[in-house]
Amino acid sequence: MQFRDLGAQYRVLQPQIDKAIADAVAEGLYISGPQVKELEERLASYVGVKHCITCANGTDALQLALMAWGVGPGDAVFVPDFTFFSSGEVVSAVGATPVFVDVDERTFNLDPRKLEEAVTFVLDAGELNPIAAVAVDLFGLPADYSDIKPICEKYGLKLLEDGAQGFGGAIGNQLVCSFGDISTTSFFPAKPLGCYGDGGAVFTDDDEWAALIRSYAVHGKGTFKYDNVRVGMNSRLDTIQAAVLLAKLDAFVGEEIAAVNEAARRYDAALAGSGLVLPLVPEGYTSSWAQYTVQLPTGADRAALQEALKEQGVPTMVYYPKPMHEQKAFEGACLVAPSGCPVTERLCGRVLSLPMGPYVSVGDLDAVSQELSKAFK
Ligand SMILES: *Cc1c(COP(=O)(O)O)cnc(C)c1O
Repeated sequence: MQFRDLGAQYRVLQPQIDKAIADAVAEGLYISGPQVKELEERLASYVGVKHCITCANGTDALQLALMAWGVGPGDAVFVPDFTFFSSGEVVSAVGATPVFVDVDERTFNLDPRKLEEAVTFVLDAGELNPIAAVAVDLFGLPADYSDIKPICEKYGLKLLEDGAQGFGGAIGNQLVCSFGDISTTSFFPAKPLGCYGDGGAVFTDDDEWAALIRSYAVHGKGTFKYDNVRVGMNSRLDTIQAAVLLAKLDAFVGEEIAAVNEAARRYDAALAGSGLVLPLVPEGYTSSWAQYTVQLPTGADRAALQEALKEQGVPTMVYYPKPMHEQKAFEGACLVAPSGCPVTERLCGRVLSLPMGPYVSVGDLDAVSQELSKAFK
């Protein structure tokens, strides 16, 4: 059994993926081929926003958003303490200060009350200018936008949605990557919609920001390629990756999101009463289940459990073992409100992510559940 079996998807979609790659190679437009534009149009229409700008990866996508807003030294950007490193890395990369905010114990996502507390803390200290908040759709579940947005409006913060893990998720009928003033995603192979290399995209309804992001992504280009009007970066999605994504998109929208939710329901049913805390999906929310993450009972030896599961052929992962504010890279270069991030610290010690994906077999799901339940008998 694999933790995320990308080969299983390839075996199902092989004819169209092979053809898409072969066509892209034969056509010879390896950079900015027509597949890139077609993908951007299809993704924008799927998500329901005006502009989609593809780029080289999900980290660049976040950085491009901050660059379009002119975020830099003296600015504070609020970021959940429990997330992948990129969500905060980009803030430091543009010279601003990340302020790490605790998360909700059951959804793993940014705690709106803690966000407001952190904003007032920064305002009272009077040294940094609160400019934006990053809300991460962690493990596939959209963040609590109905409570986060009013706080951003109240304090004049721009909202950046990091939908790297949440693509395909929704609240009601509104899809992930449409909640932020700017939203981003990643097409890293193991993400809900993955290509066969690195890739990312930025989404926004704002014409001016979209134009700036298109410029920043291609060396700060002006009216043509050799007119450079600002210092940018080289961040494009290549044609072959766009072709792979186009070949996968129908299955992603039509079948995979439903299939991965079916897999989550099977885990939910099999693990109910096991002593594990199961992931919570609030009423009206749809997760794209980038991860199915349980919390072990207090005092459980996670490393020993992982080892025992591994011996039974069950791979597991720890996302994430370390709070952002404890990462060495941010030492002396980040802030946390005085009440700290106790929930994140607790989660880092007890989370465990299980094998997951739209093509994971019922047999594997049941085997994982049985081995886990046995361990807690
Ligand atoms: C994967 C990920 C990113 C970065 O995406 P890359 O394409 O790997 O650069 C950013 N944020 C979160 C939450 C992620 O999981």
